[in-house]
Amino acid sequence: MPTTSKHPETLVLHAGSYRSDSATNAVAVPIYQTTSYQFQNSEHAANLFGLKEFGNIYTRIMNPTQAVLEERIAALEGGVGALALASGQAASAFALQNIARAGDNIVSSTDLYGGTWNLFANTLKEQGLEVRFVDPSDPENFRRATDAKTRAYYAETLPNPKLHVFPIKEVADIGRSLGVPLIMDNTAAPVLCKPFEHGAAIIVYSTTKYIGGHGTSIGGMLVDGGNFDWEKHADRFPGLNQPDPSYHGAIWTQAVKPLGPIAYIIKARVTLLRDLGSAMSPFNAFLFIQGLETLPLRMRQHCENAIKTAEWLKKHPAVTNVIFPSFQTGETRRRADAYLKGGYGALVGFELKEGKDAGRKFIDALKLFYHVANIGDARSLAIHPATTTHSQLSPEEQIKTGVTDGYVRLALGLEHIEDILADLDQALTAATGLKRAAE
Ligand SMILES: *Cc1c(COP(=O)(O)O)cnc(C)c1O
Repeated sequence: MPTTSKHPETLVLHAGSYRSDSATNAVAVPIYQTTSYQFQNSEHAANLFGLKEFGNIYTRIMNPTQAVLEERIAALEGGVGALALASGQAASAFALQNIARAGDNIVSSTDLYGGTWNLFANTLKEQGLEVRFVDPSDPENFRRATDAKTRAYYAETLPNPKLHVFPIKEVADIGRSLGVPLIMDNTAAPVLCKPFEHGAAIIVYSTTKYIGGHGTSIGGMLVDGGNFDWEKHADRFPGLNQPDPSYHGAIWTQAVKPLGPIAYIIKARVTLLRDLGSAMSPFNAFLFIQGLETLPLRMRQHCENAIKTAEWLKKHPAVTNVIFPSFQTGETRRRADAYLKGGYGALVGFELKEGKDAGRKFIDALKLFYHVANIGDARSLAIHPATTTHSQLSPEEQIKTGVTDGYVRLALGLEHIEDILADLDQALTAATGLKRAAE
C-alpha cells in the first residue's frame, strides 16, 4: 500500500508500490541483476510487446530495481513517472531528443554545467538541433528567442559558479503561454526545490551528485510532471501526437491515456532508451536507492555546513568575495528565497585576492577537502575552475561564465563544521600568508 505522506523524509523510504520483495519478503530492495524476464505464455509476451499490458521484458528498457528508484523519485517530485538512465548527461540529452528533431530548436539558459554546454553547443548542433542560449536574468529573453520550431526551454535550478537561482515560474509561465515546456535540471537542489510546483514540465537529474550522495556511481533520471498539455500544442510535438513508425503507428498521447498523462515518459522509455540504450545498471539503481533514503537528512546538513562556511569565509582577509545565495540582493535574492526552501544549497564560491596563483596554492594545501571535479559527495570537495574545468575557455569567456582567476568552488560535505573550517583556515594561510582574526 503506497504511502499517502507528503513529506520527503517519508516518501524517499516508502513511496511507490514496493513494500517487500514478492518472492522472498526481503525488505531492502533486491538487486535484480538480470537481463531478461520469462514470459508467462505467448499471449503475455504479445501483450507486453504491444503495450497492452505493462511488465518486464529486458533490462535495457526496464528493471525492478530501477523501478523502485523511479517511483520514489517521481513521488518526491510530485511527478507522474520517471526514467532511470546511465548518467545525468544521458538524461539531459534524452529530455530534448524526446521532443525535438533535426531542424527544431531549444532555448536554453547560458548558466549551465560544462558537460551540458558541450552537448548543446556542439553535439546536438551537429545533429541538426539548434540550441539558442539566452541570459536568464531577464525571463523575457526566453520569449524573444522562441519561434514556431521551439520545442523546449532548458535551465538549471542552482547553476554554478554564479549560483543565481533560475526564474522558474517566470519562464514556465512564458512557455505555457506559447506552448513550450520548461525542463529543469535540479541536480544541485533536490528536496530544496520542487520545480513542478513552479510550473516546470520535466525534471532532469544527475543522480551521481546528491541523490547518490556518496560519490560512488554515475546515473541520471528524467521525471515527467504530467502537467503539460502535449495534445493542445500538437503542432509543436508531432512525435507525441502523430503515429510513431518505430512503434507500429502508436500515437503516444492517445496510446497511454488510460494510464494517465505519461505520454512523454513512456515514449522516452520505449523508443529512446530502447534505441540508444543508456540504461542504468541494477547495481547502481540499488546504490541510488540507498542514497535517496537519507537525501532529505543529508541535504539539511550539507546546507547548514555551507551557510556556516560562507559566513566564515566572508570575514577572511584573503577572500575578496563570497558567492552564496544568502549574500545576493535584489531580484537574484528574491528568486533564491522563492525557489529554495530549507537551505541555499551546498555550493559556495569565493574569490582570492591574489588570483590564479593563490587559487592553485590553496587547492594544493587542502588536507581534508578532496580536489575533484564533482559535487554532492558526503565528503567536502574543492576545485579551482580557472586552471581546470574552465581552462579551455578564453579569459573573456571565463569572466562571462563567472569564473575569475581567483575563484574557488567548494561543495560542502557532511564532516563536522569545525574540521571543515580548520582545513580552509590552514590552506588559506598557506596560500596567502593571511590569517583570519580569532573570534
Ligand atoms: C554532473 C552534472 C550533470 C551531468 O551528470 P553526469 O551524471 O556526470 O553525467 C548535469 N547537470 C549538472 C548540474 C551536474 O552537476
